[in-house]
Amino acid sequence: RQASREWKNENTIVEIAPGVRVGGSDVVVFAGPCSVESEAQILASAHAVRNAGAHALRGGAFKPRSSPYAFQGLGLEGLKLLALARNETGLAIVTEAMDERGADLVAEYADCIQIGARNMQNYSLLRHVGKLGKPVLLKRGMAATINDLLLSAEYVLSEGNPNVILCERGVRTFDSATRNLFDLTAIPVVQKLSHLPIMADPSHGTGLRDKVTPMARAAVAAGADGILVEVHPTPDKALSDGAQSLYPEQFTELVRQLRLIAGAI
Ligand code: PEP
Ligand code: MN
Repeated sequence: RQASREWKNENTIVEIAPGVRVGGSDVVVFAGPCSVESEAQILASAHAVRNAGAHALRGGAFKPRSSPYAFQGLGLEGLKLLALARNETGLAIVTEAMDERGADLVAEYADCIQIGARNMQNYSLLRHVGKLGKPVLLKRGMAATINDLLLSAEYVLSEGNPNVILCERGVRTFDSATRNLFDLTAIPVVQKLSHLPIMADPSHGTGLRDKVTPMARAAVAAGADGILVEVHPTPDKALSDGAQSLYPEQFTELVRQLRLIAGAI
């Protein structure tokens, strides 16, 4: 198995854009809104997260919504707005692809292709992004074991693409106190089994704005290679995931705290 430590013991570093290295000594921060909603919204988000110290801008153009009647994303127009935000801020761009056709477009406009929880076991999509040669951010499925996650990474690696970043984003359990159960243990478990970098997404992991900062701190303390966090200029007006999106000022403070924790371990 190519994802395993037996195959390769040395940690893999995935460089998604010049200088943005995931899996090295620095904790990386990917931040931005759940969805790209408009030019004004994505540019405001990009400037806010860049000024706070984020390395990459996240934001969905193709949105895997639970309901087909919910906002589905701006599609190609959203990708163009992300490219504009990159030109304005220099941030690397991370955005989700839901199918093969979308992945080709994402590969054209973005620096890193996100495969979401709902598609973690879409094996034809995984094989396809394995052939595109762009870094892949692979999120854990909401009912996937860590072994399932590593086997999904294997689909990308086995097509010749070594640049896979894993991401813990919470799993479903019986408890509705939070949106998902954020599995902090996944970080050291993955690090023992695999040389691939592992990030943490406390936004989807908890679903609740006031839980995001403590869980982000905990993930960095646990050794995560980076954090994926939702930030919106006006969370109350967000078209998706507003309840878990940080206000820009909260995000600025979070990055300050993460630097202290990363420096202390
Ligand atoms: C997202 O990152 O906006 C997203 C849809 O995440 P997940 O696939 O983890 O639900
Ligand atoms: Mn979201």
